[in-house]
Amino acid sequence: MTDQLAAGPVAAGDDSVLPFQVEGLDARGRVVHLGAALDTIIGRHDYPPAVSRLLGEAVALTALLGTSLKFEGRFIVQTQSDGPVHMLVVDFETPDRLRACARFDREAVLASVAAGMDRPEDLLGKGHLAMTVDQGQYTSRYQGVVPLDGRSLEDAAHQYFAQSEQIPTRVRLAVGELVTRDPGHEPRREWRAGGILVQFLPESEDRVRVRDLHPGDAPDGSDPFADQVEDDDAWTEARVLVETVEDVELTDPAVSAESLLFRLFHERGVRVFDRQPLQERCRCSRERIDDMLRTFTPEERRDMTVDARITVTCEFCSTVYDFDPTDFDAAEENNVAADDGSAGGDLSGVDTAAEGGAGPTAPDATDGDRTSPEDDEPTVR
Ligand SMILES: [Zn+2]
Repeated sequence: MTDQLAAGPVAAGDDSVLPFQVEGLDARGRVVHLGAALDTIIGRHDYPPAVSRLLGEAVALTALLGTSLKFEGRFIVQTQSDGPVHMLVVDFETPDRLRACARFDREAVLASVAAGMDRPEDLLGKGHLAMTVDQGQYTSRYQGVVPLDGRSLEDAAHQYFAQSEQIPTRVRLAVGELVTRDPGHEPRREWRAGGILVQFLPESEDRVRVRDLHPGDAPDGSDPFADQVEDDDAWTEARVLVETVEDVELTDPAVSAESLLFRLFHERGVRVFDRQPLQERCRCSRERIDDMLRTFTPEERRDMTVDARITVTCEFCSTVYDFDPTDFDAAEENNVAADDGSAGGDLSGVDTAAEGGAGPTAPDATDGDRTSPEDDEPTVR
């Protein structure tokens, strides 16, 4: 179902994505607004504001991209880099679930902010951004990787679409804190984020032909077909309009996605599609963590035991799970008796099945996967 947009007030659509199409410009896109969902994600952590802000951008980007994919499973956006913020992970699970966490050096973040180096690119430093589609254990994962070399998440997304998908794309992301004051109460601060993504997807053969050209061995960072497409008048107009979007238009709850789209594109006939809701929801559970702990050897579990307990904290939602290590050993002894010694302790496919090796790794101990060897397993303590 689509609606032709008209002027006038429309209810704000927090925690949802609104897909749209601008036929006059051969453009399609999405607007995301995150309110309570982002505030809950950030509230689950005790991160410095600069890290929360950066994570908010990553969540908005993930929501824009994840809801545009036709699949069932998980879409994971992850950075790994050498700046004060070592890693951001945002996990979107179809149809609507989001969770996110960061790893960082608190002292380095505070020092960087104090020195005025608080832009996303300052905090991230050099490294890469990976986007992974995971449709479950029986399908192979798809991963696209772009370098992060002093560029923002917006620019990394532009480069990803230019090089991997060959789709001219513009993204704007913004994060803000809304302060509300009820008389007689302390001011309340709520995190909000918004974003808009626009892509040039012409149907005319003549205008898509440049997208058939393989970028070949062009050096990293260059975009050999971009110059040709960037000359297209329709795309130039769409791109320039999106670049006029101010942060406040993405974070102010009084500015709905519809009113933003009306401002940008009403002269070109913008249509919106059904809104897609989003929610904060972690996928961890006691059962998943129990399964994960069973993949460790009794010796490894002994190493994790403190005061006769194994405590696992989910890095995404900070939920703490507490186990009695003797429960595993008792179960394993039973298995050994029943299976004639073949059960238990066999980790040979587990490490290779983990996400280790060339690619970045997610802090997935709470998913039942084991973290890769280079991870420092911060979730187990
Ligand atoms: Zn969790």
